[in-house]
Amino acid sequence: MFSTDLPPLPTGRAWVHGALERLAQEAARSADTHLLKLDLPAFPGIDLYLKDESAHPSGSLKHRLARSLFLYALCNGLLHAGQTVVDASSGSTAISEAWFARLLGLPFIAVMPACTAPGKIRDVQALGGQCDLVENPADVPAVAAGHAERGACFLDQFGLAERATDWRGNNNIAESILGQMAREPSPQPAWIVCSAGTGGTSATIGRYLRYRRLPTRLCVAEPSGSAFVEGWRRYDRAAMASQPTLIEGIGRPRVEPGFVFEVVDQVLEVPDAASIAAVWLLEELLGRRYGGSSGTQFVACLRLAAAMQACGERGSIVSLLCDRGERYAETLFDRGWFAARGIDTAPWDARLRAVLRDGRGFDEPMP
Ligand SMILES: *Cc1c(COP(=O)(O)O)cnc(C)c1O
Repeated sequence: MFSTDLPPLPTGRAWVHGALERLAQEAARSADTHLLKLDLPAFPGIDLYLKDESAHPSGSLKHRLARSLFLYALCNGLLHAGQTVVDASSGSTAISEAWFARLLGLPFIAVMPACTAPGKIRDVQALGGQCDLVENPADVPAVAAGHAERGACFLDQFGLAERATDWRGNNNIAESILGQMAREPSPQPAWIVCSAGTGGTSATIGRYLRYRRLPTRLCVAEPSGSAFVEGWRRYDRAAMASQPTLIEGIGRPRVEPGFVFEVVDQVLEVPDAASIAAVWLLEELLGRRYGGSSGTQFVACLRLAAAMQACGERGSIVSLLCDRGERYAETLFDRGWFAARGIDTAPWDARLRAVLRDGRGFDEPMP
C-alpha cells in the first residue's frame, strides 16, 4: 500500500530548484541579439544579415550553450550545491560557463591550451574562474576528466552541445534568426552560414530548418583542412584535420560528437589569412571588432553571394558574429603576431575588397 507520508523534498532538490529559478530569471532579463543588415551595393537583390552574438552578457554565442549545459546538468541530477564545475575549452565557452557558475555561486575550472589568447584567460579569471593551462592541447580532455574524477561536475561542451540545446524551439539561435527575418524582403534565407566548434550551432540550425520545412540551405564555413571539412565529404567520423588553424573556437582537429554532417548542405574552406583579413575588413564595415570565426563566415558569405549573383539568384544570406574582437587584441589584431606565424593578409585584403566593389572575384565552382 502507499504511505500518505511523503518524504520531504530532499535538501539537494531545493538547491536545484533555486538554481533553475536563477537561470529562468537570467533568461527573462536577457534580450535577443541583434540581426544587423550589411548593405552590399555590388550585390543587388542579395541581402546579407549578421547576427551579433557578441552582444550576450558573456560576449559570445557560447552564452546560449553555457545556459543549456547548466540546465542539462541540473535537470539530469548531475550538479549539486557547492560542487565545482569543470570544462575543457579554448576560451569562449569557458568565459560563458564562468559567468553562469558565478551566477549560481559555484567554483569553476577551465582546462585550456596554454596558447589560448591571453585576453580570454583574463576574462575567465575576472569572473572568478580558475584556468588550468595545459601545454599540449591534446591533453586537455584527460586533464578535464581528472577534475571530474575528483568530484567536479563535467559540463562536457563537446560531448553534450548537440543534445543540450532544444532544437525544436525555446529561444534557440535558429528560431531567433527566422523570427527576426520575418518582415524582410526574403524572409526565408537562401543560406545560413555558421562554423563548427562543438557543432552545436550547426546541428541546431540544420535540424530546425527541417523541422520548419524550409528550403534554406546550411553552409558550414571552416578553416582549411579542419576535421569538419575532411569528415563531411564522406560522413567519416574518424577523419582528422589535415592542418592546424589560428582561428580559435572552430576548426577542430577531430570529429566531435556534436558534428551532425547529415544536416549540412555545403562546407566551404577558408584559409586563415582570408579569415584574418576579413576581421579587419569587418571592423571597417561595422565599426566594431569581432573574432576570427566571424571573419571565416564573412568570407564564405561573400563566396555564396558571388555564386548566387553569377547564376542570377536573389535572396538573403544570414551569418553570425560569434564573439568580441577585444579578446584577440594580442593575436589577430596584432599584425606582428600573425606575421610571425607566416600569415600575409595583404593578397586576401585586396581580393575581398575587389569582391565587395565588383560583386565578382571568387572563381571556384559552387553548388
Ligand atoms: C564555439 C564557437 C563557434 C562554433 O560554435 P559551435 O556551436 O560550438 O559549433 C564559433 N565561433 C566561436 C568564437 C566559438 O567560440
